[in-house]
Amino acid sequence: MTPRDAIFDSLTRNAFDFLARGIAEFDESPKYSVIHFCAAVEMLLKARLMREHWSLIVSKPEQANLAKFMAGDFVSVTLEDARARLRDVASEDIGDDAYASFRALANHRNKMVHFFHNALENDEKTKAQIVAEHCRSWFHLHRLLTRWDGYFHDFGSEIAHADRAMKGHRKYLAAKFKALKPELAAARKARNAPKVCSACGFKSAIPDALDHQIASLRCLVCDHVETQVELECPHCDKPIVIANDGFITCEQCGESIEPKHLAEALTDHGAAHIAMMDGDDSWQPINCGNCEDYHTVVRRGEHYFCTNCFEISNHIEQCEWCGEYNTGDMEHSYFAGCSVCDGKAGWEKDD
Ligand SMILES: [Zn+2]
Ligand SMILES: [Zn+2]
Ligand SMILES: [Zn+2]
Ligand SMILES: [Zn+2]
Repeated sequence: MTPRDAIFDSLTRNAFDFLARGIAEFDESPKYSVIHFCAAVEMLLKARLMREHWSLIVSKPEQANLAKFMAGDFVSVTLEDARARLRDVASEDIGDDAYASFRALANHRNKMVHFFHNALENDEKTKAQIVAEHCRSWFHLHRLLTRWDGYFHDFGSEIAHADRAMKGHRKYLAAKFKALKPELAAARKARNAPKVCSACGFKSAIPDALDHQIASLRCLVCDHVETQVELECPHCDKPIVIANDGFITCEQCGESIEPKHLAEALTDHGAAHIAMMDGDDSWQPINCGNCEDYHTVVRRGEHYFCTNCFEISNHIEQCEWCGEYNTGDMEHSYFAGCSVCDGKAGWEKDD
């Protein structure tokens, strides 16, 4: 193991230790639970950044010094910069929902560190809020760790252990779930039956359905928002539910499911064929203006759904430079290009 690998290993191991503590010590000390849980999230993002280059976890990479780094003598990157660097250097956008959940955790941590509120932190409402924040953050973190399996494959048992511990952690939300029973029953009566929330596990996510397979949901227990797709696994044909991410492993057969499988399964091939005969390209795969992925967006009736980032859009536009269809704003595309081209500016640069 090189010294840099050893630092990655030690940082990651430490992160899982903090995470386990953050969950285990919740009952006795919500304050330390918030602090440790939040540190664990930040450490795991830093560990991923480190796999690109060690200097990226130093606040000013241009002043990074390897000897000081190895001695642990450096100011480390903020959450905001970590997100930006992951996006710019590693082309890994953690997503707005994930960032918002990590940010909420950090804000809570800062409050806990700066103000002494013994009574407040033990209040039932605050405790439920903390567990809700943990559930939302773990949902996103777990998803990222699965996506980054190539880097964290040695930590499979730590990840599984944390996931089990988080499932136990959810019990602190039971009182809130119980209090919401009338509201959930009303939703059921209005034919808008709550679904299982992927973050807290309670059947308390109210759907806002796009069609019979795709719905955006907001959980009344933990405030988690997600987009769920219900389909038959392309490998084993069993019914599955996928939330927020096109890269998953089927729980039924263990095969991996990627955006291209989802795009295939969600495309209305009949409509696409008829539209194409009429010269209408809008039923063909489209590029995503949100995650900038190629041909991951499929048309669903009057809406467009990205099978990679799960964004739902209601219109598409052609890039003024290359003519490809994209979701999102194409206003300056003649010069700046789109998700798949560099526009006139890039063309002139190459010339
Ligand atoms: Zn929930
Ligand atoms: Zn399957
Ligand atoms: Zn997308
Ligand atoms: Zn273009």
